[in-house]
Amino acid sequence: TSAKAGLFTESVIRETFRLAAQHGAINLGQGYPDFPCPQEIKDAACAAILADDNQYPMTFGTPALRAAIAEKTARTYPGWTIDPDTELCVTCGATEALVAVAFALLDPGDEVVLFEPWYENYQPDAILAGAVPRTVRMRAPDWTFDEAELRAAFGPRTKAVFLCHPNNPTGKVYSAEELALVGELCQRWDAVLVVDSIYEHIHYLGPGGYQPPALVPGLEDRTITVNALSKTYAVTGWRVGWTVAPPDLTAAIRKVHDFLTIAAPAPMQAGGVAALGLPDGYYADLAARYLERRDLLCSALEDIGFDLRRPDGSYYVLCDMAPLDPEGDGVAFARRLITEVGVSCVPAVSFWRPENVAAGRSMIRFAFPKRPETLNAAVDRLKSLK
Ligand code: GLN
Repeated sequence: TSAKAGLFTESVIRETFRLAAQHGAINLGQGYPDFPCPQEIKDAACAAILADDNQYPMTFGTPALRAAIAEKTARTYPGWTIDPDTELCVTCGATEALVAVAFALLDPGDEVVLFEPWYENYQPDAILAGAVPRTVRMRAPDWTFDEAELRAAFGPRTKAVFLCHPNNPTGKVYSAEELALVGELCQRWDAVLVVDSIYEHIHYLGPGGYQPPALVPGLEDRTITVNALSKTYAVTGWRVGWTVAPPDLTAAIRKVHDFLTIAAPAPMQAGGVAALGLPDGYYADLAARYLERRDLLCSALEDIGFDLRRPDGSYYVLCDMAPLDPEGDGVAFARRLITEVGVSCVPAVSFWRPENVAAGRSMIRFAFPKRPETLNAAVDRLKSLK
């Protein structure tokens, strides 16, 4: 096996998923909705299959889906114009988009700036492309980072910054000042900002609370925005995502994407056209439902005694279990939660690099994209910890 493959481990989220299934635990580990997606989206995908739309679509996305992405983006963020012919590439989920971006952008020896704790994929993506991750630590309880540390992470070899915004796992939504600083450094070191914006519509800051970095002055020409249908429309199994990037970067991403997967599934892209055509009220309702879920779970976790900061965005809450088990660690605690309490969460250790793992040792992550019945059943079980 390759030396590269030896530099990272299997996703801890996978391991937790298997253990949870084995013990019949309520799954608040891997972050996926347990409620249905809107009917019209399902109808559109089914209709496409029945209409024999079952062959390879255009490698970088059907014209209809690319047009729908451009139209919906302009509707959500007036002033953001995307040319669907040259600035979009449809991929198999945000996961493939990130790999395609890493291969399209990075050469061996290049450096990539990552914020830690991170979403697990960025480090392997950088390593597989031969690049070297440099990390900047976000610190509990409010997940701020040190400006000097960020400045020091950049240098002549910096090629890209990967930013999950709103953030998985911390729930942080980066402020305008923080984005301006990242932008200044990207310009100074000629680096590309890769924004994983999959939780774009899941935040608790009200209308206008989320600003896409691609619109920050100076970043328009050096930002790659990654997104997908998965979280916004509750279709994580469909595997339809995309990148928005300037034409030169998009051309490289499209070439890599073609050799990775050829294309995202044709009928699911047809479903995506229906999803992106949903009226604006859908997004307001989505945020309102998520706020209820966040508060239901966080109130219960606070009451049980976990230390946490309610997320401003995403559908995760990162908790410190130390008040409940001062001697224990998150890995053993998460295992006990699955096997004895019947609820799964993800131990957060793999969201920190091994040398910084002390910061994440007692941290666990709960996901709350679930029906109220599911969350209430989980809370009932968790109360036994009190
Ligand atoms: N984004 C989801 C999570 O963080 C699922 C990702 C995964 O399965 N690796 O739980």
